[in-house]
Amino acid sequence: KMRSRHVFKSFGATRVLKDVSVEVRDGEIVALIGPSGAGKSTFLRCVNNLELIDSGSVEVDGELIGYRRVGDHLQPLGDREASRQRARIGMVFQHFNLFRHLTAVQNVAYGPRQVLRLDRATAERRAAELLGRMGLAGREHHYPRQLSGGQQQRVAIARALAMDPSMILLDEPTSALDPELRVEVAGVIRDLARQECTMLMATHDIPLVEDIADRIVFMVDGTIVEEGPAEQVLNAPAHERTRAFLARMT
Ligand code: ATP
Ligand code: MG
Repeated sequence: KMRSRHVFKSFGATRVLKDVSVEVRDGEIVALIGPSGAGKSTFLRCVNNLELIDSGSVEVDGELIGYRRVGDHLQPLGDREASRQRARIGMVFQHFNLFRHLTAVQNVAYGPRQVLRLDRATAERRAAELLGRMGLAGREHHYPRQLSGGQQQRVAIARALAMDPSMILLDEPTSALDPELRVEVAGVIRDLARQECTMLMATHDIPLVEDIADRIVFMVDGTIVEEGPAEQVLNAPAHERTRAFLARMT
């Protein structure tokens, strides 16, 4: 489903990703964990083509992200192609990033209308269905400011799903939330996991990782230190750094 190979990314002189190779198989939930500044968000942004990698490759469903092959070299995609790729990969951010002047249903219907060119009635009907699945029936016409953080995050998840993405990237989906709301959003993510949604999630929420991740990738300072089945990494980490990190987190 998603495969990155030897990804390098710098911002100016700051080398942020150094040889990151990650694979997410169809239907798999992979948790990307690691200390602040490890490069987790940057990596997700590269997978979603919000950032262009410097070298290496990212493929989603066999399609190269961010670049096209021209002969034997690579050329960055134009804006149109780049945004088409972004639209195929759902992204959920820590701070929800909803449009404040649009209601819940309008937020969710926005992408399908603008990008998939669905008519308004169809897009809003599907949006209302998705909001219902997220436990938000009755809140369709609320504006973001009229919703709790947990509700806003569920709208953001519905918005990502509305594009019928081939996979979903979640960047700290629960970390801006109170413990109570966190449980509520974690529940929605768990439901998606059960429905065989393919997910790559950066998070500091170890209980959520324990709960849903199939595999864990532990990253420090732009490099993968350890990866493996969730149980193994959580219960018997191979590296001292992983052990120390998990001990601090739990
Ligand atoms: P956190 O757990 O705090 O969210 P993270 O693992 O998501 O951390 P990133 O946000 O990917 O880490 O940042 C990795 C490094 O890249 C940091 O040192 C950060 O300052 C740097 N960085 C990220 N984006 C940019 C940018 N646009 N320009 C310059 N430096 C950046
Ligand atoms: Mg981050």
